[in-house]
Amino acid sequence: MSIMNIKSYACGKWIDADCTGRQILSAVTDQRIAVAGSANLDFQNMISHAHKLGAPALQEMTFHERAKKLKQLAIYLNERKELLYELSFNCGSTRKDSFIDIDGGIGTLQVFASKGRRELPDAHTYLDGDVEQLSRSGSFIGQHICRPKLGVAVHINAFNFPVWGMLEKLAPTLLAGMPTIIKPATVTSYVTQACFKMMVESEIFPQGSFQLICGGTGDLLDRLTTQDVVSFTGSAQTAFNLRSNQNILQNSIPFIAEQDSLNASVLGSDATVDTPEFDIFIKEVVNEMTAKAGQKCTAIRRIMVPEKILGSISDAISARLTKIKVGDPCDETNDMGALVSQSQKSDVLNIVETLKSECATIYDEQEHFKNAKGAFVSPVLLQCGDPDSAIHVHSKEAFGPASTIMAYRDNQHACELLNKGDGSLVASIITHDPQIAHDITIGSAAYHGRIYINNRDCIKESTGHGAPLPHMVHGGPGRAGGSEEMGGIRGVMHYMQRTAIQGSPDMVSVIGKTWVPGSKTFSNSIHPFKRSFNKLELGETLVTKSRKITLEDIQQFAHFTGDTFYAHMDEEAAKANPFFPGRVAHGYLLLSFAAGLFVEPNPGPVLANTGLMDLSFQKPVSPGDSISVSLTVKRKTKRTDTYGEVRWHVALKNQDNELVATYTLLTMNAYN
Ligand code: NAP
Repeated sequence: MSIMNIKSYACGKWIDADCTGRQILSAVTDQRIAVAGSANLDFQNMISHAHKLGAPALQEMTFHERAKKLKQLAIYLNERKELLYELSFNCGSTRKDSFIDIDGGIGTLQVFASKGRRELPDAHTYLDGDVEQLSRSGSFIGQHICRPKLGVAVHINAFNFPVWGMLEKLAPTLLAGMPTIIKPATVTSYVTQACFKMMVESEIFPQGSFQLICGGTGDLLDRLTTQDVVSFTGSAQTAFNLRSNQNILQNSIPFIAEQDSLNASVLGSDATVDTPEFDIFIKEVVNEMTAKAGQKCTAIRRIMVPEKILGSISDAISARLTKIKVGDPCDETNDMGALVSQSQKSDVLNIVETLKSECATIYDEQEHFKNAKGAFVSPVLLQCGDPDSAIHVHSKEAFGPASTIMAYRDNQHACELLNKGDGSLVASIITHDPQIAHDITIGSAAYHGRIYINNRDCIKESTGHGAPLPHMVHGGPGRAGGSEEMGGIRGVMHYMQRTAIQGSPDMVSVIGKTWVPGSKTFSNSIHPFKRSFNKLELGETLVTKSRKITLEDIQQFAHFTGDTFYAHMDEEAAKANPFFPGRVAHGYLLLSFAAGLFVEPNPGPVLANTGLMDLSFQKPVSPGDSISVSLTVKRKTKRTDTYGEVRWHVALKNQDNELVATYTLLTMNAYN
């Protein structure tokens, strides 16, 4: 079998691993399969290449253009993923394990592509939150904006998810408009590199968008500058070493750390051996212990159960573990493959020995694998009799199929044990009792990045204790690294700078490409509903004639719709209410009349009214009052090849020019 030379990709060229590079062995056969080394790389050139070529090319595109490219990339990889599955067997992963990695990674690209189109503007600047009123008359306002950082994101990844680990960081980074230098863990870099090669061959993203280091990072971190970002996934010890780098500290270079943690699962005290939650719990625990041979940052390391059923649970988990078939991951009848390497195996077994100093052994069939080729191990279940005094159980992560069971007395005790992990990525609570879910969540949320609650009502569609989802934040406080990743658009913001802009409404409107109240408006002789998306301009305003509201209008609307709420029908009762001077018009009547005032009835570029946002009623309208409307183009966003969304600021005023209601109207308008 030929040895793979794991090339790096720097400045648009593939660079061979140097001959002194690290030898990579198959997790299954212990045979040498690849060599990776980065001695031939010039890290300064890589940084310059990203700064000078990648960043400008990415930032020329809008969020939507970059999101479309993410989608194309997901489709491209999906059509070629079989090769990645083949290679991954050498990492000790079964096909099921690799599904989490490969399809999970591609799915993450898809989610970011779709969120980017739906939640970010078709623009270069993201507006964070609403305009802030900083002055009495509104001539001086504030707005937070986010712009991509002008440097490079360095991604240092763990070995366990060579594809997902790369793509879950890459998707938000590219969406933000930052280029990346990716450094996968060397031991599984041949899988990452195969996926990366496809990304380069696809030519979907411009030159300089991503580069790859297979091997060490040399002095790369010493060369980073203030606009760069480091995102790290791996052990707490390596995170500590890297984030302590003097250049990183001195230049306040953001360092995102996703570390190991002692995640736990709690079975609620409402569960008995006869409830569905008991079975759900056993299944989740065993799945988390054995999927990816326990090499998941989110795997359940601590199992917390009510005292009264400790024995039954121990027995049930052991019984299930005896059925787990460990062996060649290519063989689909096997449930669990190997650890990634012999050195990982010895690390895991050493930590299990340390844990045994505080625990009894419930299940451990290590003898079977003592002399076997490959980094195979047995699942291990330990039981801790004194979890309040134990130290290792709450602090030592055996990054393999090992977990410790312990009993808790009540919800508060469960929280105390959970929080002894000193910061975890995830805790799960398996309960059918909302009060238990509430008490344990409230008592432990500060120590956890994610809390996953499962029971008979959602088991069929639940995503699993261990699955970080692109929509939800992944990360945790303290021991888990103190950072966050993903969480939808929140994850994109790590690669952008938030800046508070203060100035007049005209300045803020132009900078944010969004008209804000108080900035210039102008009218056009043609009704705005007759003007296509491309012709409409921000600030373009239609001011309508006014319409008087009569008591008959209110009566008729009430009987027509059935909304005979007393404030519209009963003068005395309305007057007694602190909000109304007497009978008033329905808010919905005002909205309907407003539409009647501003709508242009004939077919034209406005295709549909798709929504109404931020509605607020500021002043009641009494019979005899008049209203008029001003309709202003606030923001335009391209949606498809033929039409885009127009957001209109709508202000209803009464005869005294007082604001009665404001809202944002959404329409879809044809481009031409
Ligand atoms: P690791 O040994 O800490 O290595 C992580 C990464 O850091 C690898 O790419 C490694 O490269 C690199 N690295 C190590 N020393 C470095 C240095 N001096 N300069 C630059 N890079 C350096 O962790 P691992 O063994 O790959 O992964 C297992 C650990 O990761 C577990 O503890 C697990 O809990 C954690 N993890 C956490 C998450 C999460 O999201 N929180 C996810 C997955 C895994 P080399 O391979 O070349 O040494």
